[in-house]
Amino acid sequence: MADARSPVRTRMAPSPTGLLHIGNVRTAIFDWLLARHHGGQFVLRVEDTDRARLVPGSVEVMMDTLRWIGLDWDEGPEIGGPFGPYVQSERKEIYIEHAERLVVEGKAYRCYCTAERLAALRAEQESNRQPTGYDRHCRFMGAEERVEKEASGEPSVIRFAVPLEGETHLTDALRGVLTYRHETVQDFVMLKSDGFPTYHFAVVIDDHLMQISHVVRGPEYISTGARDTLLHQALDWQQPEYVHGSEILAPDRKRLGKRHGATAVLEFREMGFVPEALFNFLALLGAAYSADREIYSREELVAMFDVDKLHPTPAIFDRTKLEWMNGHYINHILTLSDVTDRCVPYLDRAGLLSGEESRDYLEDVIALVKDRVKLLPEVVELTDFFFREPEPSAELVVGKKLTPEGAHHAIQTARKRLEALDEWDEAMMESRMRELAEQLDLKVGVLFAPLRVALTGKTVAPGLFETMRVLGHERTLERLTRAAETVSGAHVA
Ligand code: GLU
Repeated sequence: MADARSPVRTRMAPSPTGLLHIGNVRTAIFDWLLARHHGGQFVLRVEDTDRARLVPGSVEVMMDTLRWIGLDWDEGPEIGGPFGPYVQSERKEIYIEHAERLVVEGKAYRCYCTAERLAALRAEQESNRQPTGYDRHCRFMGAEERVEKEASGEPSVIRFAVPLEGETHLTDALRGVLTYRHETVQDFVMLKSDGFPTYHFAVVIDDHLMQISHVVRGPEYISTGARDTLLHQALDWQQPEYVHGSEILAPDRKRLGKRHGATAVLEFREMGFVPEALFNFLALLGAAYSADREIYSREELVAMFDVDKLHPTPAIFDRTKLEWMNGHYINHILTLSDVTDRCVPYLDRAGLLSGEESRDYLEDVIALVKDRVKLLPEVVELTDFFFREPEPSAELVVGKKLTPEGAHHAIQTARKRLEALDEWDEAMMESRMRELAEQLDLKVGVLFAPLRVALTGKTVAPGLFETMRVLGHERTLERLTRAAETVSGAHVA
């Protein structure tokens, strides 16, 4: 953006009405990157004025989600700051004061219309096929009636008096100047009868008082952009820069929703996505930096962030690509020790750990499978045999290419050769087993198959000799003995 104001101050302003979704967090990432790119501040503000939709506890969950993905804020509800409080329900007086000011100046008015009247009005407009909306009944109320109404103490809201003619403009950094004809703009409510502000009013007051320089938010706020401009003009305030991100669509080009699977960021966490990958993915969703690179560190993303690279056109949420990226982070970016730390809770939850495993052993196990892990929980299925004895059936050990006698003989002989090794060395094991295959006149794959099943209980597993190395001499021989017994037991029976 050419004229970045100084200092750059951005904000994330979630409403505590549930979980943070992919779209909310992508917006927060853009806000955060913009602030960090310019060495400015990122503010967290809780927009809890829609009292009917509050979900208790969701502020904490949201903060936890933001921290998990790696966002930090310089001012916010729990740390305070020079422009607090950062929770809108604690700022009621501020909104009332500004709303009253606009009433006094004739730019807003009290409306006493009841919910019944508004419902009847709507029904009438619908039956006449007219556009629905407030008919400005109270705006043109006589002075006498107004005094009477005020004295009566009847519940009222404060509405903004939108000019009846002309148009209003809002500049969006990605889309240019947006024009709103006043005849299409309602006299919107600023202050509700419970004394709480509406989103549209509170957001303008707070962004101004908190000295927010750039408002990066979702595209759903474009349609009501006239309200932002009208309020700023009425209050004689300078507007921040607006950046409305792109819509996020599912591959079927419908708005990303529940039917496409998870949309809440915490669900992605549960599924085993690592925050570094999700951050990288979301930072690029709806942005175009380079055609030949997708993996960027957080520092690189901060350094290169540029609003001009964001697209206004819808971005497609490509889950397959996200999984690829996650696997890439697990396999190439995060250290083995780090990946191990993140896998351990899943192994533990699956009941695989006794607590006796050494750190080296855990890392050896993870090292063998991490190139096949796309999502962290997959590690359970891939490594369970390192933590509990496999119990393959005789049929599985024998497989399709050998007879039970042949399998038994192969396993027994392999066991003897391995037992005779001086050193538990992978290369040595491999060359002995290859020699054995030749002597038994078996293809290597045919010999290795029963050994693999004996050691892992699976037909597909990590490399046979790496597995032997990690299992160790004793356990390898024990498992071969047991598999041979299983096969001969079955054979005799
Ligand atoms: N409270 C709004 C939301 O949760 C914030 C929108 C904005 O950034 O202005 O979507």
